[in-house]
Amino acid sequence: MENTFKKGGISVQTEHIFPVIKKWLYSEKDIFLREIVSNASDAITKLKRLASLGQYEGDESPYRIDVTLDKVAKTLTVADNGIGMTAEELDRYICQIALSGALEFVEKYEGENKSNGIIGHFGLGFYSSFMVSDTVELITKSYTGTNAVHWTCGADGEYETALGEREEHGTTVIMHISDEEAAYLEKYKIQEILEKYCTFIPVEIYFHCEEDTEEQKEKEKEPSPINDTTPLWLKNPSDCTPEEYKDFYRKVFHDFKEPLFWIHINADYPLNFRGILYFPKITNEYESIEGQVKLYYNQVFVADNIKEVIPEYLLMLKGALDCPELPLNVSRSYLQNNTYVAKVSAHIVKKVADKLNSLCNLSREEYEKVWNDIRTFVEYACMRDRKFYDRVKDSLLMELTDGSFVTTADYLEKAKETHESTVYYTTDKAAQAQYVSMFEAQEIQIAVFDKQLDTQFLSMLESYDDKIKYVRIDADVAGALKSDEAVAEDTAIAELFKNVAENDQLKVTFSALKDTTVPLLLTISEESRRMEEMMKMYAMSGMNLGGMSFPRDETLTVNTACPLIAKLGEMEEDKQRKTAAYLYRLAQLSQRKLSAEELQSFLGESYSILELL
Ligand code: ADP
Repeated sequence: MENTFKKGGISVQTEHIFPVIKKWLYSEKDIFLREIVSNASDAITKLKRLASLGQYEGDESPYRIDVTLDKVAKTLTVADNGIGMTAEELDRYICQIALSGALEFVEKYEGENKSNGIIGHFGLGFYSSFMVSDTVELITKSYTGTNAVHWTCGADGEYETALGEREEHGTTVIMHISDEEAAYLEKYKIQEILEKYCTFIPVEIYFHCEEDTEEQKEKEKEPSPINDTTPLWLKNPSDCTPEEYKDFYRKVFHDFKEPLFWIHINADYPLNFRGILYFPKITNEYESIEGQVKLYYNQVFVADNIKEVIPEYLLMLKGALDCPELPLNVSRSYLQNNTYVAKVSAHIVKKVADKLNSLCNLSREEYEKVWNDIRTFVEYACMRDRKFYDRVKDSLLMELTDGSFVTTADYLEKAKETHESTVYYTTDKAAQAQYVSMFEAQEIQIAVFDKQLDTQFLSMLESYDDKIKYVRIDADVAGALKSDEAVAEDTAIAELFKNVAENDQLKVTFSALKDTTVPLLLTISEESRRMEEMMKMYAMSGMNLGGMSFPRDETLTVNTACPLIAKLGEMEEDKQRKTAAYLYRLAQLSQRKLSAEELQSFLGESYSILELL
C-alpha cells in the first residue's frame, strides 16, 4: 500500500494472544458483536457529550449505528457516526491500550474453568472481533476533522495503518468472517445476536443484509431501528402507566400472560442501578418456575439470571436490571465476595418485601387475588432468608376454608374467642371434611395449607416464633372440640377398640364432644405425622433410611356425648365387637384414604350390616 505510514506487529509483543482470543469461550463467541456495537454506541455518546458541553457544534445528520451483513463479500460491518479517532488515538487506543486490555483479560482468565462462567467479558473489547474474523479493518475519522485512517490487521496480529477514505466523522469496523465461522454470515444469526444483546442500546441501530431481495429492500426504504433506545426502566416510575409496564413485559419476555405485578427500582447513589422486576403468572404448580432476570450494563445486555446479583430464591421473577456500577469483567468468584453486589442484592430483596407489604396494606383486594399465585414463591423465599421473612411476616396471608384470606394476626385475634395461639389447618378440605365440619360448627377458622412446601413452611414458622402452633385439624384437636363436661374412662370399651383396631399402642380417650353425631374421632399427633411426611420425602429423594420407621402416634377419642356410644356399652358381645370394628373403620375413613385391603374389608362389613336390616 502506497500511503502506508505505519506497520506493526501485534504478535511481536504478544505471541499467543490471537490464538487464545480465537478459541475463546466457544459458546459465547456471539459477544464479539456486542463489543463492537457497544464501542460504536460509546463513540456516539462521547460525541453527544462534547456537543452538550459546547465543545462540538453538533450535526445535521442523526446519530446512528449501521450493521451490514454481506454474504458475498463475507463481511460483517459496523459503522457509527460518533467521535472517531485520529491516527494517534488509533495507535494509542487500539494498538496499545485495547491490546493491553485484551492481554490482561486473557492472562487473567486463560486458566479459568470455562464452565465456571465469566460474565460480561467487558475488557476483551475490540479484539474479540478476531474470534470470528481472519482480518479486521477499521476506517475512522475524528470529529476534529483530521484525515481518515485505515487500519488493517490479520489473524497473525500483523497490522498496517494507511490514509483512509471517509467523509463523515465516525468509525467503520469491517470484519472479514473466517470460513470456520461462516455461521456469522447468516442473517438470522446476526439478528438473533443483535436482539439478545443490543435491544436497549441507547443509539439507534439499523440492520441491513446485502442478500435481501429487492422487495425486502423496498421495505427498508423507511427502515426502523432494531432497538429501543429508551427502555422503560429509564423513565420515572410515576410517569409509567400499567399498560407500558405490560407492553414492556410482553416485548422483552414474549410472555402473553399478564404479569401479576411489578416493582420499578430506581436506586440512586451509591447503588445507582435501575430496573423493573415482574412477578409472572404461573398457570400451575408443575410449570417450570424459572424466571429470567436480564442484567444490563448501560443498556447493553450482559447475562441472564446472575444469582450473585439477585438471590436464587427470587430467580422466578422476570425483569431487567441495569447496573452501570458492576465490575462486569470479573469472574463469578469475584462477584460472590463483592460488597457492592451484596448491597444491590439486599436492596432488591428489600424492594420486593416493600412491594408485598404495600400491596397487603394498601391494595388488600388485589393482593388477595394474587396471593395463591405468589404464595409458594413467598413461602420459599421466607424459608431461604430469615431477613426476608422478618420483613414480610405481617403480610403473609392464609386462605381459610371459606375462601377468605387472613393474616396470622387476624386469625389469632379471632381465635381468642375459642382457643389460644393455635392455628388449625387442613391439607385437604375434601378428605378431612368430617373434621372441617366439626370445626366450622364451633366457628373455629381453618387455614388451608395444601401445597407440597407447606409442612416445611409451617415448621419454619414455628421455629421462628414458638408462641404460635400450627395443628392440623385431625391432629391433637379433641381439646378444642370437647365440652367442659367431665367424663369417666371406660377400660372395657378402651380395650375393645384397641382390639378391633389390632393396635396395642392406640391411645383411647373419652370426651364429650360438642358435636354429638360423631361417635369416634381418630387423630394423629402433629409431630408424628410431620415426621412420617418427612420420612416419605427423604425416601422419595432416594435417601437410605436403613429400615428406620416410627410408630404412628394415634389417639382415638370416644365421644361419650354420642348416643351410639351409649348404646355400644349395652350390646351383647358379638354385636358389640362388629359395631366397634365398623365404627373404627368409619373413623379411619374420615381421617384418610383407606388402603385397598381396608376398603375391601369395609365393603364386606357394610354388606353384612345391610343383611341385618
Ligand atoms: P473498551 O471499549 O473497553 O475501552 P475496546 O478494546 O473495545 O475497549 O476499545 C478500546 C478503545 O478504542 C476504546 O476505549 C475507544 O477509545 C476506542 N474505540 C473502539 N471502538 C471505537 C469506535 N467505534 N469509535 C471510536 N473509538 C473507538
